[in-house]
Amino acid sequence: MTLLEIQDLNVGVDSREIIRGLDLMVNAGEVHAIMGPNGSGKSTLSHVIAGKPGYEVTGGHILFRGEDLLEMEPNERAAKGVFLAFQYPVEIPGVTTMNFLRTALNAQRKARGRGELSTPEFLKKVREVAGSLNITRDMLKRGVNVGFSGGEKKRNEVLQMALFEPSLCILDEIDSGLDIDALRIVASGINGLRSPERAMIVITHYQRLLHYIVPDYVHVMSKGRVVKSGSKELALELEACGYAQFETAA
Ligand code: ADP
Ligand code: MG
Ligand code: MG
Repeated sequence: MTLLEIQDLNVGVDSREIIRGLDLMVNAGEVHAIMGPNGSGKSTLSHVIAGKPGYEVTGGHILFRGEDLLEMEPNERAAKGVFLAFQYPVEIPGVTTMNFLRTALNAQRKARGRGELSTPEFLKKVREVAGSLNITRDMLKRGVNVGFSGGEKKRNEVLQMALFEPSLCILDEIDSGLDIDALRIVASGINGLRSPERAMIVITHYQRLLHYIVPDYVHVMSKGRVVKSGSKELALELEACGYAQFETAA
C-alpha cells in the first residue's frame, strides 16, 4: 500500500526556492534513506511533510494514504500517523519528559478514537521502551531535552516514536552527534520499530548510519530534488565517490 506520495513538490522560504520539483513514493513496510550534501533541502522536506510553519508550498502535492496532507494541520498529520524526529530537538523547560510524553500520547490516542492509558499502563510502557534505549528515570523527570546531551536528545526522539506508534517515521539526521555506542542503541531502537505496516524515511548525510539501519531504497538529494534513486548499494557508491558527481546533474 502506498503511504506517502510526493509529486513535483516545490517549496520556498522567503521567496527563495528550496525544494524544486521533488518526487518520492513510499510504501508501507519500506525504509527509504535520503542522502545528500548539506543544504540540499533534506530538513526542509521533512519539515514540510510534518507541517512545520514558515514554508511556502508553491507547487505539487503530498498525499498520505491518498489524502491531501498539505491541507492538514500539523497535529492532524501526527494523528494520522506522521512522526518527525527533528534534527535539532527542541528543549521545553518546565515540562518534564514524562508529562510531555503522557500528554502527547493521550492526545494522539484521542485523535485516533482510542481511550487514555491508565497511569500504570502508561508507566509500564514508557519504562519498558526507555529501558531498551538506556534512558534513565532521572532523564524522564527532567524538562524535555533540557540539559540532555546530543545523544540523549536523539534517544528521546526514538522513545517518542516508539510510544506514538506512527505509520510514517521521518528521522532527520538521527545519527548526528552520536558516538558509536549511542548510534547502535538508537539504530537498534529504530530497527525494532520496522514493520510491514510502517514506513520510514531516514535522512542522513553519512553512510555510517545505513550500516545499522539497512534501507530498501536510497535517494540522493541535490539542490532541492531527488537526482538519483537506487538500492542500498547506492549508499556505498556515495561513500566511495562523494556527492560531487551529482552536483552538476541537479
Ligand atoms: P539540509 O537539511 O539538506 O542540510 P536544509 O533543508 O536545512 O538542507 O536547507 C536547504 C537550504 O534552504 C539551505 O540553503 C538553507 O540555508 C535554506 N533554508 C532552510 N530553511 C531556511 C529558512 N528558514 N530561511 C532561509 N533559508 C532556509
Ligand atoms: Mg544540514
Ligand atoms: Mg538538515
